[in-house]
Amino acid sequence: KERNPGESEFHQAVEEVLLSLQPVLEKNPQYAKAGIIERLVEPERQIMFRVPWVDDEGNVQVNRGFRVQFNSAIGPYKGGLRFHPSVYLGIIKFLGFEQVFKNSLSGLPIGGGKGGSDFDPKGKSDGEIMRFCQSFMTELYRHIGPDIDVPAGDIGVGGREIGYLFGQYKRIRNGYEGGVLTGKGLTYGGSLARKEATGYGLIYFVKEMLEANDSTLAGKTVVISGAGNVAIYACEKAEQFGAKIVAMCDSKGYIYDKDGINLDTVKQIKEVERKRISEYVKHHPNAEYHDGQKGIWSIKCDIALPCATQNDIHVEHAEQLINNGVQVMGEGANMPCTNEAVNLFLEKGVLVAPAKAANAGGVSTSALEMSQNSMRLSWTFEEVDEKLQAIMANIFKVSNDAAKEYGMEGNYVAGANIAGFLKVSEAMLAQGVV
Ligand code: NDP
Repeated sequence: KERNPGESEFHQAVEEVLLSLQPVLEKNPQYAKAGIIERLVEPERQIMFRVPWVDDEGNVQVNRGFRVQFNSAIGPYKGGLRFHPSVYLGIIKFLGFEQVFKNSLSGLPIGGGKGGSDFDPKGKSDGEIMRFCQSFMTELYRHIGPDIDVPAGDIGVGGREIGYLFGQYKRIRNGYEGGVLTGKGLTYGGSLARKEATGYGLIYFVKEMLEANDSTLAGKTVVISGAGNVAIYACEKAEQFGAKIVAMCDSKGYIYDKDGINLDTVKQIKEVERKRISEYVKHHPNAEYHDGQKGIWSIKCDIALPCATQNDIHVEHAEQLINNGVQVMGEGANMPCTNEAVNLFLEKGVLVAPAKAANAGGVSTSALEMSQNSMRLSWTFEEVDEKLQAIMANIFKVSNDAAKEYGMEGNYVAGANIAGFLKVSEAMLAQGVV
């Protein structure tokens, strides 16, 4: 903490992992001797840069850009870019740190990194978004490449932003290098099912976890926070498995529809019109809209899927959910629960699908996009989706096995941390002191 002052989210992420790793470190003294933990918590490289751009009124605006290249032991740095006013180094480092374990768990050859900016895309015109993305890439391009570092989307960075970033990279690099970014549009090298992958993957993981505990998604009532990329496709897949989603939110408030959320309406409002979730009740007058996002956790549900942002669920929300009989906590967002909230869920026997494992479907499908780019071919939606399902089932298996091996059966949080750690630390040991 003294070494990284003020980076509270990063401290939180590291603390959670280190606690789970205690039994592994005791059993395997070679990791301590080789300084694996000290190396894991120190990014290989952190880049911060100025991003000047011109707004529609002709004024120059200045934002700060970040790329933290955390660990390349098992492959090129891989991880998304987040554009949100709350972004600072501590957020990018927590996300990058988690990404190292997540990418290791995916079983695919990708290292961990993360980046972004404190730029707020809300209320900006397309022209402003494009000029910002072009300026951002004008610095970022020199640090990335298909075999070096491959960014993708995250909060505030979707298909539109990736398109502008890719266009500028291509212009600077004097040619098409498809594998430098993932989440690309389908007309220029993107993969089918990438857009759906994180949300679908979350539900595939939850399904595996439920089945291992003699239960299913069918007939369950679900509450999902967020109404962005992850939330929308988690909702879609959960519905396909027979669950009923009764609430979703954005950062301003939440909607409750006891008949089940109409996802077409949410997609129209969020993906097409880019408006607030409050618009939903204009289309469905029987539904309710409530100001303030936190109230969503007071709604009774069997399964809670936080898919918005970090530290969405504190102990008091966990208590509300537990008192209302929640059975499953499926983390779609990164670190959506505080460590205290996770511990309470585990203590009370709630099944917790930890973010590093449960939301790894997005980055895994990004890795499949890289494979398709390298092979110069495109798989069908069904082919990618099938691979995604197999990857999620395997992530569940290795997390479950690791938890059992270390005497913590059913604690998939510890299991995922341990399984992710073992692969990356073996790769680091093999490569010497670097
Ligand atoms: P989007 O930008 O598409 O959507 C984010 C959603 O969360 C929006 O509805 C947004 O509301 C809401 N939200 C954001 N910040 C807050 C906040 N501070 N309080 C309340 N609500 C908030 O992002 P994604 O869906 O891509 O990402 C969601 C989460 O999933 C993040 O934690 C991300 O790191 C994680 N993730 C994403 C992956 C991906 O492939 N996209 C992969 C793995 C993890 P509003 O519009 O009002 O801001």
